[in-house]
Amino acid sequence: ATPTALMVGTGRSAKMGILIKNGQVLEAVNDVKTVVFDKTGTITVGQPRVTNIIGDREKILQIAASLEQASEHPLAVAILNEAKQTQIDMMNVDRFEAVEGKGVRGEINGQMAFVGNDKLLENIRLTSELSRQFEKLQQQAKTVVVVGQADQVIGLIAIQDTPKKTSQAAVAALKNRGLKTVMLTGDNEQVAQSIANEVGIDQVIANVLPKDKANRFKALQAGGKVAFVGDGINDAPALSTADVGIAMGSGTDIAIESGGIVLVKNDLRDVDRALALSQKTFNRIK
Ligand code: ADP
Ligand code: MG
Repeated sequence: ATPTALMVGTGRSAKMGILIKNGQVLEAVNDVKTVVFDKTGTITVGQPRVTNIIGDREKILQIAASLEQASEHPLAVAILNEAKQTQIDMMNVDRFEAVEGKGVRGEINGQMAFVGNDKLLENIRLTSELSRQFEKLQQQAKTVVVVGQADQVIGLIAIQDTPKKTSQAAVAALKNRGLKTVMLTGDNEQVAQSIANEVGIDQVIANVLPKDKANRFKALQAGGKVAFVGDGINDAPALSTADVGIAMGSGTDIAIESGGIVLVKNDLRDVDRALALSQKTFNRIK
């Protein structure tokens, strides 16, 4: 391998807004057979909005937003935006706790309150009417969180994020190249599957806790090397564990540090361009 060719390759890609960190990355790209995508903020815009509130709107928003003040999750941002528009007064939260991949909880007025998915509920049950609503909203590709206080469910909030305009083309380009595409997410199967269908992703791996994302590569690696595309929110370990980590430029600092390739322009179609360019450069210096 001549360093000059490497420099040329990476120099040209840098102009395209594609940063390739080193020669090892170039080499690994050559054997990539599967591209795994994070969902929120990578395939989707990452700016979810509240679409439905089932139950006493003001009370639900007040409890949920008060709890979410301390969270940086995109779902928390959606709930806080909705509360701001409804001009909700925030309440004090004691003993705040974020439960990875599940939600948040804390004490409000001396009572335990929570907002999160059904995994956070433990032994609290939804009424059959709320279960029916929950299912219905989920079928509409919405992420549904349950809001509760003092061991009682007080209502549901449905939140929706939409695919980026470029996601479908980005996935199609990779499939044209004969690569398998996979979505890896902590969200539920139904939401994940409906977004995957919309953009043409081949396989969905849902309900994966952030800490388990990196472990899911092993099975996929049986078919060749695996590239992972993410924004670093919850997925920095996956970015550094994949054979090729591809970080979105809009992502967190950790993402940019963890990725072997950085897509500066934050355009998902650059995944295909990055793979094509790396392959070309690698073949030239081989
Ligand atoms: P993703 O893979 O889409 O980034 P996460 O692992 O961050 O998903 O979250 C998985 C699920 O956990 C969410 O879909 C939601 O149901 C629940 N969750 C996580 N954090 C929060 C929060 N702050 N508020 C409400 N629900 C949450
Ligand atoms: Mg994410």
